[in-house]
Amino acid sequence: MTMESIISIKGLRKSYGTKEVLKGINIEVNRGEVIGYIGANGAGKSTTVKIMLGLVTDFEGEINILGQDIRSGDISYKSKIGYVPETAEIYENLTAKEYLTFIGELYGMDYTQVDEKAMKLMDLFGIGDVYNSRISSFSKGMKQKTLIISALINDPDILFLDEPLTGIDANSVMVFKEVLERLAKEGKTIFYSSHIMEVVEKLSSRIILLNDGQIVADGNIDELKNTSMASSLENIFNQLTGFNDHEDIAEKIVAVIKGVE
Ligand code: ATP
Repeated sequence: MTMESIISIKGLRKSYGTKEVLKGINIEVNRGEVIGYIGANGAGKSTTVKIMLGLVTDFEGEINILGQDIRSGDISYKSKIGYVPETAEIYENLTAKEYLTFIGELYGMDYTQVDEKAMKLMDLFGIGDVYNSRISSFSKGMKQKTLIISALINDPDILFLDEPLTGIDANSVMVFKEVLERLAKEGKTIFYSSHIMEVVEKLSSRIILLNDGQIVADGNIDELKNTSMASSLENIFNQLTGFNDHEDIAEKIVAVIKGVE
């Protein structure tokens, strides 16, 4: 199979004020890869994703998505992207039907087609009964499922998922994981950012670990386990982010809680 470059990031740097968040990142992603993009809180994962989506525009470096330079002014690549953001900005006053048909129409879909598709997906994700209810009345997980559906509605070539499983119940997590595996097999490219290491380990064909604004590991789970001599992704993460004092920190936290320190 010939490799088709879907995402190409070269020399990406980004600062907020005097703080350099991304310090020269290079990533090449080919069609069908499922990238698990991991790193500690504040490492710069969401910033990378927001830059690729054109939501953050002042950066240094070169980014091509689906062969298109994202700074060229041509935003047609965005119609082939689905995005589940870390924090949901969802139109609470709309019903799921109104919201999803609105998103579908933004992607250029026909109203009847998107309405039917949205209803079917809501049903399959177990929330078909609230299709006509306002999103403000939804539970956290129901809102998250609606966001996931909105990211899938246009059958995108690339999916950017930033902690997509937050608030989703265990049964639906199984369904969603299976959906992602099947989409990847069909040639979709998935860029998945999460702190749930078991899921990242299971789903990703390749894992990229960001630490202090730089990539410190890039490979499939077996390669990473071999090079770091670690048994799990959690251990690799601890090792490469220089963290081995969880017991000590926990002991101090408990002492503070109990007022003995
Ligand atoms: P988390 O795992 O906690 O979601 P992350 O790896 O996604 O973290 P980012 O959200 O990319 O991290 O943030 C990286 C750094 O950039 C953090 O230090 C954060 O404070 C800073 N940052 C992000 N957005 C802004 C902003 N709009 N203005 C100033 N600083 C920002």
